[in-house]
Amino acid sequence: MMKIVAIKPDAAYFVWASLALTGPDLVPEKNILLEIKKNSIVSSRSIQKNNLPASIKNHPHFICIEDGFTLLPALIDAHVHLALNGKGFNRTRMLWNDRKALQVRIVNDLNEIISLGTGAVRDGGDCQGINLEAKKIVEDGKCLGPRIIATGKAVRKKGGYGSFLGLGYRQKSDIPLIVSKIRESGTDQLKIIVSGVVSFIEHGSVKGQLMPLNELRVLVSFARKQGLKVMAHASSAAAVDSAVEAGVDSIEHGYFIRSESLKLMAEKQIAWVPTIIPVAIQTREPLLGLRTPLEVDVINRTCEEQIAKLSSAHKLGVPLGVGTDSGAGGVRHAHNLIEEMLLYKSGSLDNRAILKAVTSTNAEILGLGKEIGAIRKGFKAALIAVRGNPLKDLKMLKNVAIHLLPGS
Ligand SMILES: [Zn+2]
Repeated sequence: MMKIVAIKPDAAYFVWASLALTGPDLVPEKNILLEIKKNSIVSSRSIQKNNLPASIKNHPHFICIEDGFTLLPALIDAHVHLALNGKGFNRTRMLWNDRKALQVRIVNDLNEIISLGTGAVRDGGDCQGINLEAKKIVEDGKCLGPRIIATGKAVRKKGGYGSFLGLGYRQKSDIPLIVSKIRESGTDQLKIIVSGVVSFIEHGSVKGQLMPLNELRVLVSFARKQGLKVMAHASSAAAVDSAVEAGVDSIEHGYFIRSESLKLMAEKQIAWVPTIIPVAIQTREPLLGLRTPLEVDVINRTCEEQIAKLSSAHKLGVPLGVGTDSGAGGVRHAHNLIEEMLLYKSGSLDNRAILKAVTSTNAEILGLGKEIGAIRKGFKAALIAVRGNPLKDLKMLKNVAIHLLPGS
């Protein structure tokens, strides 16, 4: 049975693990004892289980991760849309008119997310700022849920793609006001829509207008002034080029990204969240039946290219995150994070690199690189234990036995 432990900030906890993946590089360590105070790991030492003092073994908050299980940082999803739930766009949007029912749906999804071992998510925005409401539900203690990094409403150019994602500006001079408004709504990062979405019908084509580079520059510089990181939705080579040139913090999707852009991203340490599963899932059951053979071919090619680029990005040293775009058509919250990781595996990344992407690199992308994503002194005790060893087999991440959630 899966157990969620909501850590009380005013109590001490002791976690002993037969095996733990420690530090940002997930180094396997045996027989480790963590002491947790005020939500954070205050000490970590090696000790055999037999040698644990009775005061620790009998402590009311002693958690023992037995042989055959692995303790590791909780997983992080760097790209979700809590306002949506993947079960048909129109049906999901209709629910936006019934706030009570919407809240029930969101609470269910938040519960699933933590039950499956994800401790933090970054939301890619929606035009009503529903992700901010979700964040408030968790922060007010109305339900247990992951730590949410919210973008509120995204910024797009009027007439461009993504009216359901955020606010449109008409001209460059409107940008400062729109960014200030978004900042005031309580967002953690700024989401901008640089391009349209990848086509499932015509290979390599991305529909919709491109945000002009001079406007992108203004957006990024205003976001910086407001202390906001910039998360850029950019598919198509040209969109990625502009976003990288303007100096955003992360490229989302990045379909058809060029090797030259990857080199620049490695140089500037701009992160990439390639979100392959929302495209790949379109040719899996039950969605497969809705696609023509031509579409299946276009989708498969698009995904194969993305996976190949992912491998080059890794070799070049681009910070790689993992995001599912959950909420998008067919992608359920939490359920597809491991599927996304398995797609990385079909590239040239090994399990350790993939686990690092979904923990410490994702934490950096969320702006929480000094707080979560690693078992490390001073870091929050955002931890999970799974049956088996995910360094040997990523599918073991499906067997979450315990999830420690730092309190607020
Ligand atoms: Zn998205």
